[in-house]
Amino acid sequence: MPTPHLDGENRFLPPTPENLSSLKCPHCSEHRIVSNGAKKKQLITDVPENGRPTFVYVNRRRFLCKGCGKTFMLPLAGVEEGRNLTTRLTAYIEEQMFLKPFVGVARETGVSECLVRSIFKKHLAKMEAAAQFKTPDFIALEPVTILNKTRYLVCNLRQQTVINLLESNSPDVVGNYLKQLPNRHDIKFVLMDMNYNVRQAVWDSLPLAQTIFGSRHLIGLVSKFFEEIRKLVRERSWGYKRRLLAQDKAIFKLRQHELSAEQNAIIDKWRTTHIDMLKAYALKNNFCDLFDLTSKFAANKAFEFWSMDMEVAYQNDEPLLSLPNWTIDGSIGEFCRWFEHPSIRKYEQAVVPLMEVLSKFENWYSINVIRARLLSIEDGRSDKGIKVGSVAAGMEDYINTIYRIPSD
Ligand SMILES: [Zn+2]
Repeated sequence: MPTPHLDGENRFLPPTPENLSSLKCPHCSEHRIVSNGAKKKQLITDVPENGRPTFVYVNRRRFLCKGCGKTFMLPLAGVEEGRNLTTRLTAYIEEQMFLKPFVGVARETGVSECLVRSIFKKHLAKMEAAAQFKTPDFIALEPVTILNKTRYLVCNLRQQTVINLLESNSPDVVGNYLKQLPNRHDIKFVLMDMNYNVRQAVWDSLPLAQTIFGSRHLIGLVSKFFEEIRKLVRERSWGYKRRLLAQDKAIFKLRQHELSAEQNAIIDKWRTTHIDMLKAYALKNNFCDLFDLTSKFAANKAFEFWSMDMEVAYQNDEPLLSLPNWTIDGSIGEFCRWFEHPSIRKYEQAVVPLMEVLSKFENWYSINVIRARLLSIEDGRSDKGIKVGSVAAGMEDYINTIYRIPSD
C-alpha cells in the first residue's frame, strides 16, 4: 500500500488522493472507509542530529471502517506503530547501545531509558534465537572473568567454537542452561574447572556425561598453592637469606625450561639456603610437566609419585599443612580422563587468545551487552558455533571501538 513516508530531509509527505483510494482497513481489509473526526497531532522521534534529539510533529487522519466499525490512523511508512519512533531511529539505537551506556543513548535520542532497554531486550532475544547451535557431544565450560565476575563461556570442544556465554558461574545458571539444550543427552563429555557445586549441577542435568578437569584450571590451582608457600618461606627469612630470594616471584611464574641462566644460578643457591623454596618450585614445575605426558597410564603413575612427594615434602611442616587443601584426591578420574582425549590439548591452546581478549572488558557496563555482541559475530559462524579465533578477533575489534569513544 503506498503510504506517506519520510523523505531524506526529515519531513513527512502528505498523503495523496491515490493513497487514500487504495487504503484498506488494517483490521478486516475492508475498502469502505470514511474519515472520522479531527486530525490527530502526533510526536514522532527521529534519529538525533549533532548529538541532539530530533522530533517531528505529524498530523494524522483517523478513519472509520464501515465493515467492522473500528477506527484506525493513516499508516506511516518508516514509523514503528505503537512506539512513535522512526524505523531508522530504532536501527540507530540498536547500533549505539553497544557503544555507550543505555542512559547515554536515551539522552542523545530523546527516548526513555526504559524504552532503550526494551529495544535491547528484543535485540538480545533475536541474537539468542540466531545462536541456537547444534548440541555437541563434547562441551567445555570455560571460566572467564568479565566485569570482575566469573562467567562460563560454553564451547564446542572438538570444533573449537563458542556456542554461548553464561552470565555467571552459579550452579543454577549452568544447570538451567544445560537443561534447556535440545538433545542435551548427546553430550558425553564436559571439560570444566574444579568447581564442585557446578560439577554437581552438570551431573544433575546430564547424568550420562563424564566430567573432566581442564589442565589450565588445575595448573592455576596448584600454582596458587605454591605461591602461598613461596610467600610463607619469604616471611620466615630475613637478612642476607632474604636477599638470596631475589626474583623468587618471577621464577615461580616460569617453567624450568623458561628460566634464564641468572635465574638458574639463584635456584642453585637455594639448595643450601632455602631448601623449602626449592622443593616448592620443583613440585610446582613437576605438576605442570604431567600435562606434557601423552599416555593416561604414564600420567596416572606420575601423578601418584608426585602426590607422594607432596606428602613427604610437607608432612612435618605445620604452617604449610594448614594451607587450604586443593587436593584432587577423589577426583583422580577427572584428572586422568584429560589424557584420553588429544582434542582437549588442541582446544586448550586454541582458546587462550580468546580468554585474554575477554579479560580486557574491565570497565564496560553490562555483561548482556557484551554477550549480545559476542553472539552476533558473523565471521566463522556455522551451525556448530562461532570459531574461537573469529570470536577473539571480533571482540578485540569491539574493545578497540568502545575504548576509543569518550563515555558521557
Ligand atoms: Zn474493518
